[in-house]
Amino acid sequence: MHETPKRVFEQIEQERPPCERNALLHDHVCSGPPDGLLKNIYQMEHAWIYAGKQIIKKWAIIRTCWWAHQGPGLDKKINHWISLGHATDEDLKEFPRRDWEQERRYLNALYGKPVIKNNQMHVMQTG
Ligand SMILES: [Zn+2]
Repeated sequence: MHETPKRVFEQIEQERPPCERNALLHDHVCSGPPDGLLKNIYQMEHAWIYAGKQIIKKWAIIRTCWWAHQGPGLDKKINHWISLGHATDEDLKEFPRRDWEQERRYLNALYGKPVIKNNQMHVMQTG
């Protein structure tokens, strides 16, 4: 099992909003489990499995609250979409067994084009 280096998590924490899904979609109120016992409600999600393993690259990890990661709001498609917003074509070339171009077209048609610049995120409405 590959482990994500701690520094990658630290970079992500510094560079990204606490819940990337909310920053892009504004579709929920960030929350932790109902028992209220979780001190930090923000988590990291490895969005992709490739050849049976998690992709442990920075672009493939997204930051969300518990609700959107382990709670009722989990939506793998949205997480895929967000992570592809971080990935460059170079990044994706390392994982040639998947048609990323098609994946991206499909997800952007569903949710819009994610624009991520200097930690600012928004969705460009298409079509
Ligand atoms: Zn959230």
